Amino acid sequence: MNLKKLIALGLAGCFLFSGCAEQRAVAQQMLENSKQENRYESTSFAMDTIMTFTIIHEDGEELLIDAEQEVRRLENLLSVTIDNSEVKQINENAGNEPVRVSADTLALLQAGKEMGAATGNAFDIAISPVVKAWGFTEEEHSVPAQETIDALLTLTSLDDVTVDVENSTVYLEKEGMAVDLGGIAKGYASDKLAELLKGKGVESALLSLGGNICAIGTKPDGSLWKTAVQNPLDANDYVGLLEVSDICIVTSGGYQRYFEQNGKQYHHIIDPATGWPAESGLLSVTIVCESGTKADALSTALFVMGLDDALKYWKTQNDFDAIFVTTDGEVVATEGLKDSFQFEGQDNDFTYRLAERG
Ligand code: ADP
Ligand code: MG
Repeated sequence: MNLKKLIALGLAGCFLFSGCAEQRAVAQQMLENSKQENRYESTSFAMDTIMTFTIIHEDGEELLIDAEQEVRRLENLLSVTIDNSEVKQINENAGNEPVRVSADTLALLQAGKEMGAATGNAFDIAISPVVKAWGFTEEEHSVPAQETIDALLTLTSLDDVTVDVENSTVYLEKEGMAVDLGGIAKGYASDKLAELLKGKGVESALLSLGGNICAIGTKPDGSLWKTAVQNPLDANDYVGLLEVSDICIVTSGGYQRYFEQNGKQYHHIIDPATGWPAESGLLSVTIVCESGTKADALSTALFVMGLDDALKYWKTQNDFDAIFVTTDGEVVATEGLKDSFQFEGQDNDFTYRLAERG
């Protein structure tokens, strides 16, 4: 196993080795981990991202195959681009007729609607026509005309996404509507994988699905999993380290996917209120939450909200914590992370603050 792969596996932000003492210590620790018995690891590409699964179990080799198959199964249901995916069928029948879907698609659409309602529509699974107009669906980017955006925004209301649980159908009320689960599907997949692996007796694993990390249990020696929160301005650097067990960590940031036009950057997280990439004063949001699905939706939603509204929202909830990196160079962690988050951004001129509930 090479060093680069080791680092990517252990540190959530997927940055490369750059040589400071702390990083060397982490790398060393991971080298030692790799010698552990029954440690199995695979890297694959699915759901438009690089996935690395590390499983510590005597049947790890087969379990890795099970995990990869589960991801493919979900991707084939949920992708907006794969032919015949259930999501594609829902979109193709917008304004026409309800589509019968599997329990997974139904559950995820329901969760998506719930997270939209919970976040004042900052999270919007029906934002797809706008995302597409910006070219993020087919990777043919350009800034749309304001009239185009205005027209498409009439097609993004969650009230027009009808999920009928009794009949297992989903119906988009208006022609031209479309749902896009890109902001929540990886989180859902990580929850399903964790459920599958735990059901097969796995007590120690680390699942990394792009910016979505899910830790099962602790490392076999009982110590905590260590992951890094990437410096959004430098892929080779991080702003801090999180030490966790049995939890999901999801990061969303404008730096992850964007294009440039006339010297200006436009990223892939759209503010459903304006139809433009969210410019909320944040570079990234990391959510720490037991539910990967919720963490994924929240990382996108709180990025849209901006720091002040996001902290107000956090204060009304008690099932997640967050780390924000602002455009002003501030790193803000919520108080539940007081002991598990270690700020490391001082060398790169970041300042640090703990946000309290009180
Ligand atoms: P990533 O999937 O790149 O890790 P996110 O979880 O933040 O990042 O999801 C961003 C994706 O979700 C976009 O590529 C787009 O498909 C979709 N999306 C963009 N804006 C929103 C939004 N406000 N609500 C829900 N989904 C969104
Ligand atoms: Mg998300």
